[in-house]
Amino acid sequence: MLVTAQAGENWHNFVQYTVQQGWFGLENLSLIYGTVGASPIQNIGAYGVEVKDRIRRVFATDTQTGKSLILHNHECNFAYRDSIFKQPENKHLLITAVEFQLDTAFQPQLGYGDIAATAEKMANGKPITAQIVANAVIQTRQAKLPNPDELGNAGSFFRNPIVSNAQAIELKQQYSDMPIFAVDDKTSKLSAAKLIDLAGLKGFALGGAAVYHKQPLVLVNQNNATPQDIVDLCQYIQKVVQEKFAVSIQPEPVFVG
Ligand SMILES: Cc1cc2nc3c(=O)[nH]c(=O)nc-3n(C[C@H](O)[C@H](O)[C@H](O)COP(=O)(O)OP(=O)(O)OC[C@H]3O[C@@H](n4cnc5c(N)ncnc54)[C@H](O)[C@@H]3O)c2cc1C
Repeated sequence: MLVTAQAGENWHNFVQYTVQQGWFGLENLSLIYGTVGASPIQNIGAYGVEVKDRIRRVFATDTQTGKSLILHNHECNFAYRDSIFKQPENKHLLITAVEFQLDTAFQPQLGYGDIAATAEKMANGKPITAQIVANAVIQTRQAKLPNPDELGNAGSFFRNPIVSNAQAIELKQQYSDMPIFAVDDKTSKLSAAKLIDLAGLKGFALGGAAVYHKQPLVLVNQNNATPQDIVDLCQYIQKVVQEKFAVSIQPEPVFVG
């Protein structure tokens, strides 16, 4: 099933619409803030699913030439929280619509975090549907992440770092509760949230900005933070994590200006 959505559509509303129509594959990406057009930029992802898994083509306008372009999935260089659209040299590409390849048979993807347990509880002995998975994701996110309308934040502030397997094993030996996710036969992904937590920075505040007390991957505007407060806090966290674990963590949002 091919579904095309215009760039200005609200992402969460679009995901809910697909679930209601019986078009499956995006339900794990419920309640990610923003628009359909922004979804390919950093290849949004959550709960074991990345939007690249479902994007077939991206429609764009080159604002320098006024020409329309169609980029197939393999031309977008999608990677973890990255794509060609995120690169400064491609800022002239304005995404106008995105075409998704969705399934009409539901295949639950429940291998990540608490989603399986929450979905099973919600299903209460009945089969797990895509709407139940979407609801489980929404409930989990609402419990862990601050609502940007109430407490300013940009979601996860750091990407999970990728390190050599040797370094990951060494860290696991030192910190037994350090989660490690295999990437390939040479590298592993670490949890940036866990690194920040183990560095003792949960709840830490600098100026008006703070590390969210429930989820250390989120920086919040706690008390009229200036943009500089956010940058200073980001750099401080990077420095402490680097010094303690010899791991470089990089911000997920793009800084402009
Ligand atoms: C509480 C919270 C939770 C979040 N959770 C997640 C998560 O789980 N996973 C995840 O991946 N992200 C997450 N995010 C980050 C954010 O939701 C995504 O990055 C989202 O795609 C941003 O959409 P936006 O429309 O607000 O884009 P903006 O933030 O306005 O823009 C992001 C970038 O994309 C560019 N851009 C936007 N639209 C277009 C377009 N049509 N054409 C070309 N360039 C464009 C902008 O210039 C900018 O560089 C979260 C954010 C919040 C606040």
